[in-house]
Parts: sequence; structure tokens; C-alpha cells
Amino acid sequence: VRKFFVGGNFKMNGDHASLMKIVENLNTSNFAEDVEVVIAPPAIYLDFVRKSVRKEIEVAAQNAYKVSKGAYTGEISPEMLKDLNIGWVILGHSERRTIFNESDELIASKISHALEVGIKVIACIGERLEEREAGVTNDVVTKQLVAISQKVKDWTNVVIAYEPVWAIGTGKVATPEQAQEVHNYIRNWLIKNVSEETSLNTRIIYGGSVTGGNSSGLAQKLDIDGFLVGGASLKPEFVTIINSRA
Ligand code: 13P
Repeated sequence: VRKFFVGGNFKMNGDHASLMKIVENLNTSNFAEDVEVVIAPPAIYLDFVRKSVRKEIEVAAQNAYKVSKGAYTGEISPEMLKDLNIGWVILGHSERRTIFNESDELIASKISHALEVGIKVIACIGERLEEREAGVTNDVVTKQLVAISQKVKDWTNVVIAYEPVWAIGTGKVATPEQAQEVHNYIRNWLIKNVSEETSLNTRIIYGGSVTGGNSSGLAQKLDIDGFLVGGASLKPEFVTIINSRA
């Protein structure tokens, strides 16, 4: 029932020429039938990418603020995304949480506002290495989920990205078993704390050092419904990842 979902988070990478190359490659590649593909270029290139990439491919911002407009220098709002036909936003990424000190509460407010405006959300959660080593992974993701659920009641337009921080940009991918274990925990958390329907229908995707070489093993796991890809989404192997269930 859950459509396979592959997001490409370009982070603060790319320029006009290199993004055009990525878009051209995606525009001319064949994708498996049942996959939803969303790419997230830097905000300044959102309009250009939306206008260049074929319409089956969706576009996401990497961040958006919790209010519509006003004196918030440097920020963009979900309303502005909507104005540019951008359908998605990534919120709660670990780089936003750690480098830019975003709290669980701010992230929840941003998610809630984006959803109200009609922008779909890729909500990121995940533990740091010392938390995994201390055996508190489930407690960490629970705390992150609880914060979201205090402000979000309808999860229809939310995709949850489980991104263990120790796997992001490190080349240290979680094993399919490690990822499946946390995804299954999140699935069960949704049953108990939101609803069985939400649990069944919500895509839980994995992020952290996903490549064309390791994606098919992960994609076979029952509760892994896709990926949020960083570095490899800038390369032609992104298409291999998109098709990793084919
Ligand atoms: P990498 O795929 O580069 O490890 O990044 C993952 C990520 O943070 C996606 O949001």
C-alpha cells in the first residue's frame, strides 16, 4: 500500500550548471513504476529546478519557517514554496538540529505550519552515535516523535525519515537489520500514539550513506519504504537508488 519514496537532499551543493546536468539525467532516466521521487536543491535554485525537471518528479525545500511572512531576515515560508509550485519541505534534518540549534519544539511548529499551508513534509529524526552506544536510540526517536505529535494530528502528508546521525555523510550505512529494527519501532509507536491507519500508511524512509551499492538490501526490509539520499543524490547512481525495489 505504501508507495516507495526516494528523496534527494542536495544540501548546500550545486550551481546552475551542475544542477542542470542532474536534472537532465533525471529527465531522461527510466524510473520503476511505483516510486515517488522528490529532489531538494538549495532554496535559491528551487524555482529553476521546478521549471526544468519533468513534472513527475517533485521538488522540496530543505527548510522553511514557522510563519507566513514578516521580519525574519533570511527565512522563507511554506506560502512562498506554494507560490512556486514546490510541494514538499524537509524539516528537522540533523544538520538543522545541530549546526543551527533547531529545537524539537521549533521543528514541530515548522512541520505544523507547512502542513496547514498544504506543503508535504519529510520529517527527519535519528540518534547520535553516543546515544546508540548508550542504548537509548528508541528513547531519542520517541522524544522527537512526541514533539511532532504534540502539534501534528493528521500525518497523511508526512513522510518520516529515520536518519541516524552517525550514518550521515560518513560512509557508515546502517545495516538493513539495524535500520529495520528502528523503522519497526517507529511503526509500532505510530500504532500506539497516532492510529493504526496512520501506522499502515505512513512512509518511513531511511537516510545515511545510502548508495547504489547498498540500497537494494535496505529496500527489501518490510518497514523501509524508501530513502533520503544526500551525497549519492548528486550522482548518476541516484537513479539506481530510485529503482532499488525494481
Ligand atoms: P548522505 O547520504 O550524504 O549520508 O546524507 C544523508 C542525509 O543527510 C540525507 O538527508
